Amino acid sequence: MENSCNQCLYDQSHPFGLVVYPQGCSGCDTHNEKYDINWQAKKAELIEDISFSKVRKRGYDCVVPVVGDAEDYYVLNKVLELQLSPLVVAVNDYFKNDIGWHNLHNLITHFDVDSLVYNPDIRIYKELIRTSLRKHDHIMLPFLSLHSSFPVHIAYERNIPLIIWGQNQAIEQVGKFSHLDKAEMSKWSRKEHDLFGINIDSLIGNGAQVDTRALNYYQYPDVKRLAKRGVRGLYLSNYCHWDPLKQNKSTLEFGFKPQGNASSFDTYERAGSSVYYQFHDLLKYKRVGYRKIRDHLVREIRHGRVTRKQAFAIEAHYHQSKINIRGFFDWLDVSESGYQWFKSHRLGDVKNLITESDTTAQPLDLPEYLVPMIEVGHDAVDDFVCFGKGVST
Ligand SMILES: [Zn+2]
Repeated sequence: MENSCNQCLYDQSHPFGLVVYPQGCSGCDTHNEKYDINWQAKKAELIEDISFSKVRKRGYDCVVPVVGDAEDYYVLNKVLELQLSPLVVAVNDYFKNDIGWHNLHNLITHFDVDSLVYNPDIRIYKELIRTSLRKHDHIMLPFLSLHSSFPVHIAYERNIPLIIWGQNQAIEQVGKFSHLDKAEMSKWSRKEHDLFGINIDSLIGNGAQVDTRALNYYQYPDVKRLAKRGVRGLYLSNYCHWDPLKQNKSTLEFGFKPQGNASSFDTYERAGSSVYYQFHDLLKYKRVGYRKIRDHLVREIRHGRVTRKQAFAIEAHYHQSKINIRGFFDWLDVSESGYQWFKSHRLGDVKNLITESDTTAQPLDLPEYLVPMIEVGHDAVDDFVCFGKGVST
């Protein structure tokens, strides 16, 4: 395809903004920095960069935002190795299945850390999802808004000076910045990358009937006040040779449970979600023309475990996998006629991928370097497990 990178699978239409060169792309270029950087020196830089948070004698040193993902296990383990005292902060997305709740609870108990789980008002949350689906073909925006702002509010309110995030997706996927820039969390980056340029304000008003006062935690805190208090957010991926698959596999020893899915070979990332490889993945296909599998394959091409040629075949395989979206519509309290209308009118070509049956992973021979990295995933027993205020209304 024109404007495609000849090393990976991305092209210039990537939502984060990718620059394609005659040989490679900005994402592949930035990835290659990983083989030149002196990571021992980077570790020393990290210790230096976090030292300001340890000056005080009391309280937490940092907030660690989590969802219960394998990456969270990896990050939290590093944070404890750095002898930081963390407050783990999670937002309930109401999409977790039994594996998702196991992974979040086990994360907190295994590492024996203090935690705070925020259960947003379910009526408002669902209303925002309905509008987000209608306007942007996206069901994760309300959660992503909270996940990228609530921990910042907590840091501000509790006077915790540091937030440790895992990977900077814009660097890992499209090489938006060099690792050497040490890009930090910002309001701009959140909107541009975490929220795809969409403002939460667009989910209220003529769409959802929501009082703006109820949306405080969905909005990023006032930047001037944050700066005055000195709250900073660092990405660990700027300081370590970031290899998600390898890292995620290593978290099995902490009790992290992988989950099988029909849309990718990756059983670690977002294991425990009832929507991530289902409806969310289908909507991604509709919006940007490819599914999550492409992100995983690009990552593995760059790490040398899959060739570009192998990746084309694997992507073609997973792009055909069927999705059952009924569970999500039941959770959202949509009527049968509303569900049927949506299916017929709003999904374009991807509606051919809808099934009413259970979806199971289709067998596929993976490349030899990938096989030892993949753990067989568990099957979820219950989707959309209610917890906290997750009661249906
Ligand atoms: Zn590339």
